[in-house]
Amino acid sequence: MATKKPRIGVFKFASCDGCQLSLLDCEDELLAIADAVEIGYFLEATRKPLTGEFDIALVEGSISTPEQIEQIHDIRNRSRMLVTIGACATAGGIQALRNFADVREFLSAVYASPEYIDTLKTSTPIADHVRVDFELRGCPVSKHHLVELISATLAGRRPNIPRHSVCIDCKRLGLTCLPVAYGIPCLGPITQSGCGVICPSYHRGCYGCFGPAHRTNVQGLVRAYQSAGVPEETLDLLLHTFNAWAPGFRESTRSVPEELLSRSTGPGGSGER
Ligand code: SF4
Ligand code: SF4
Repeated sequence: MATKKPRIGVFKFASCDGCQLSLLDCEDELLAIADAVEIGYFLEATRKPLTGEFDIALVEGSISTPEQIEQIHDIRNRSRMLVTIGACATAGGIQALRNFADVREFLSAVYASPEYIDTLKTSTPIADHVRVDFELRGCPVSKHHLVELISATLAGRRPNIPRHSVCIDCKRLGLTCLPVAYGIPCLGPITQSGCGVICPSYHRGCYGCFGPAHRTNVQGLVRAYQSAGVPEETLDLLLHTFNAWAPGFRESTRSVPEELLSRSTGPGGSGER
């Protein structure tokens, strides 16, 4: 009798689909994965309706509407293991910039009839709403991390996802340090590895698209750059992009409403929660 294949679902909330595209971009690896699993739900690639339960749920996107709160609880109830993929799902995404302002101002600036838009005041990571078993960082996630996560889960072992900072990879490549040699502010010391050091390789400072690395001192780096004369606005722009709402980044330079800080748990870096 044939063994039942593990069932995988890929789900989308508020996001640009980039992390799902990283999964499709796996090409050769995806064929091998597709052979080993049953793709039970993946609207980007198939038209199957949402039915049944899942061994692994890969969740992209943040929670930004009341309807999505109900949907993520439903997915959690259907899934043995839930993995969040990308900056939106792990930290609220670029759309979490609304958390620092009044969402009604954005609505009236963007939409001709804002009264028809049903949205939450905040964009929050999935872990603020349901239990998350594993997080993959990045905007978008690394396809190598995705393949490693799925292969390790199928093999019943712990995924080998590095948790060190971009700086370590930068040193391994022998690149000249931008802040030290040229005075260019770079978030490499506090950013999770995984991108392959793209920005410093092109003489541009890292702006943290993989989010805070494990146990980093964001405030320490901010203070160091401030004492080196980096303007407050430059630091604010660096820290408030795709991972603006990630703990560490969000408290760094802008004021955050007290009630939001206490409610949000946020991500703890790529890895098990
Ligand atoms: S250039 Fe940036 S990532 Fe590279 S070592 Fe310097 S601070 Fe770290
Ligand atoms: S912003 Fe940082 S983490 Fe993102 S691609 Fe550039 S160097 Fe990598």
